[in-house]
Amino acid sequence: RVLFFGVLISAAGAMVLWLLMARRTLARIRGTEERYRLLFDSAADAIVMVDENSGRILDANRTAGAWTGRDPKELLGVDYADLFDKGIVVRKGSTGSGELRGKNGTTRPVETQSSTAVWDTQVVRQAIIRDISERVENERERRVAAEALASIAEGVIIADADRRVLSVNAAATQLTGFTAEQLSGTRLEATRRMADGGPLPATIWDEIVATHHWSGEVESRRRDGSVYPEMLSISTIRDAGQRVLHYVAVFSDISVARADRRRLEHLAAHDALTGLVNRAKFQLHCEEAIARAARDRSAAAVLFIDLDAFKFVNDSYSHSVGDRLLELVGQRIVRQLRAGDIAGRIGGDEFTVLMPGLALREDAATLATRMLAVLSEPFHVDSYEIVLSASIGIAGYPLDGDDAKTLIANADAAMYAAKTEERNAWRFYVPTMQADASHRMVLATELRQALLDEEFQLVYQPSVEMCSGRIVAVEALLRWHHPDRGEVMPGEFIPIAESTGLIHRIDEWVMHAVCAQIRAWDAADLPQIRVAINVSARWFAHPGFIESVRHALQTNAVAPQRVVLEITEGAMLRLGEETERTMRALDALGIGVAIDDFGTGYASMAYLKLPAVAYLKIDGSFVAGLPDSPNDAAITGAMLAMAGSLGLITIAEGIETEGQHDFLSRAGCTEGQGYLYSYPLQPAALERMLRPRKQPAGSKLKLVPPVRS
Ligand code: C2E
Ligand code: MG
Ligand code: MG
Repeated sequence: RVLFFGVLISAAGAMVLWLLMARRTLARIRGTEERYRLLFDSAADAIVMVDENSGRILDANRTAGAWTGRDPKELLGVDYADLFDKGIVVRKGSTGSGELRGKNGTTRPVETQSSTAVWDTQVVRQAIIRDISERVENERERRVAAEALASIAEGVIIADADRRVLSVNAAATQLTGFTAEQLSGTRLEATRRMADGGPLPATIWDEIVATHHWSGEVESRRRDGSVYPEMLSISTIRDAGQRVLHYVAVFSDISVARADRRRLEHLAAHDALTGLVNRAKFQLHCEEAIARAARDRSAAAVLFIDLDAFKFVNDSYSHSVGDRLLELVGQRIVRQLRAGDIAGRIGGDEFTVLMPGLALREDAATLATRMLAVLSEPFHVDSYEIVLSASIGIAGYPLDGDDAKTLIANADAAMYAAKTEERNAWRFYVPTMQADASHRMVLATELRQALLDEEFQLVYQPSVEMCSGRIVAVEALLRWHHPDRGEVMPGEFIPIAESTGLIHRIDEWVMHAVCAQIRAWDAADLPQIRVAINVSARWFAHPGFIESVRHALQTNAVAPQRVVLEITEGAMLRLGEETERTMRALDALGIGVAIDDFGTGYASMAYLKLPAVAYLKIDGSFVAGLPDSPNDAAITGAMLAMAGSLGLITIAEGIETEGQHDFLSRAGCTEGQGYLYSYPLQPAALERMLRPRKQPAGSKLKLVPPVRS
């Protein structure tokens, strides 16, 4: 029993000991397990133990629970394959990838790595599931970047730190004509030169080192050797230590943009119609020329060329004809220039020429003379032949001004002087002209007021029959009684009225005033003589012209046969195809037309044959030379014969001497007008003269006191 108890006790002791030991072992095991669990659960990756045979989950860590949106315990017994959206190789192979299912249908891209182990008798697969969202995202970004690079229009070249090409995009191969293989390994700068043709300077790389960037315009060479302008920008990619890893060159062909820019620049500086420089650019050229002349102690001149009455071309032909004409004028001007001269168009029909580095003032005059000659040659536009004339003013540095503005303004003033003195002429600037120019500006404003204030008045100059000395007609001549300046003559204000467009209102006023005067004379029982009215080409070409004339006649009950409209030959030259229609309308109305100042233009027969034309007035400039100038005598004789053969009545203007009268009378001129017979008269003076008893028949008129004192 003792033994029995002894054994029992020792057995119990052993048992206790064993139990104690087992507990310790268990505790140790449990500690290991806990540590293992801790490790297991704190892993950043999801870890799942799977029974290799059934594919069911035996254990899952916390991350696996978090990613699948469940408690890790809930995952026990779940089919491992069900965790994934896309098939994942679990049993075969050690790695796989797919989408792990999360909560509410979300998924995350994962990569799995698995290995098998034997637990007791159980074969267990241990799968580590790694979230690869970031990598997938990076890859996607890289792909997008690569695609973008491939599809952008700019060429992109990536080079290494030695500037050797590593990769190029499609545009780069297209732009350069080289394949990616041909480009790779070559030096980035080898195919490029600066816009001026020189090699890319080393300073570019210094700049890139300093600022990590450079951009500019360069000339790039294509594979076929052709060169194109390129906008090139080079940047660097650096590591954390600021060491250059890569150079990225981005470039594009800017030939189109550059051509556009050049075109814009050209447009900004040139007149679109003629291609000549515009006012602003011309002024710049002048300033340069003046600066150069000041340095070299040489001279420079500006020619201001204005077409005489170009507006009539526009009014009577179409604007497209006018435009074409200006183009041709520009071409003719350019053809006369020396190398270095510059032509500009600075206004509608205003052209300028700059002659830099001029040695002699006379050279400018020579050019002006030549310009006038070529511009008076007929122009052919469409089916029309158009004859123009021009007036030219010349101003030179240093005599007439030392800045561009002054020089141009003074050339303009000289041009104006040329135009008013005689058309188709040139003048050098003289200082009084500038005063004239400002005077004209003032007159232009005052003219407008003059119409309103009725400061205009008409005087009448008789026209006498050569053979009898009888007054057979009068010509109405306009006077402006200026409140301060006194009487202003038409030679002074008509050109201003023409250039400001006021002329047709003035002409209209004259037409009405003459008709009212005729009516008054008729009422006073004066002899019913012809009254000539001067009509500007501007009004003649006006659409309302015929209607306005008819209205004036009608309201004053004046018979159309009583008036003659005078239009100068110079104006006729500029009237287009409308002329014949207007003439026919006048003819239909029963109104006669006189060609005034005949011989100062082209003395063209064509105008004399137009309907309504019944009178020809020989210009006073021919009469002045009679009877001694053989030239004037011959021309006058020829004109009289020509007009006579067409059955026209001829009237010689500006007869001042008996000698002139005798010559013209013998040459067969019908009528004469001039101071020899009478100055232009106030209506009252004319009335006295026209009373039959006061006019001794058959004798020449005595001079009556001039209207102008
Ligand atoms: P025009 O029609 O050729 O007129 C003749 C001009 O010669 C007139 O000048 C007249 O006064 C002047 N004259 C007449 N006899 C002699 C002479 O013996 N010797 C000289 N040296 N001159 C003489 P005026 O009145 O100064 O007119 C100049 C021009 O102005 C006219 O030339 C005409 O073209 C224009 N004009 C005059 N009145 C009007 C008008 O009412 N309307 C328009 N549109 N133009 C007018
Ligand atoms: Mg006249
Ligand atoms: Mg005349």
